[in-house]
Amino acid sequence: MTQPATALAATRSKRQAMWRGLLGRCPACNEGRVFARYLKVADQCETCGLELSGHQADDAPPYFTIFIVGHIIIPVALIVERAYQPPLFVHAGIFCVLSVIVTLISLPMVKGAVVGLQWALRMHGFSETDPVHVETRER
Ligand SMILES: [Zn+2]
Repeated sequence: MTQPATALAATRSKRQAMWRGLLGRCPACNEGRVFARYLKVADQCETCGLELSGHQADDAPPYFTIFIVGHIIIPVALIVERAYQPPLFVHAGIFCVLSVIVTLISLPMVKGAVVGLQWALRMHGFSETDPVHVETRER
């Protein structure tokens, strides 16, 4: 699939691409899905054919997820402690389970947003000059 030079030079909205990725949709067309499975990024968008396999999200999604979950769970735990002073085992039970649930929900959202940002910034496999990207585009 070849694109005209003007399309390659067009600006990509970082906010829009991250939002689409956060919702699990293709950052380019907003139609296809980013993920083939829970955290497995699809090789390419089934709608527009965007090559997604070149992303390098690596450790960024877990890092940001830990940051976000910590900033949600800790204040809630402190509020509950101040308001109700439950026993420690109740705290451990509630907030361990809550942490896992919030992490499992937010991790794919964060990963999708990171992939969207990488696409918008033309990083890694999303660069038009990347040999892998050019090679797959010429197929
Ligand atoms: Zn697409």
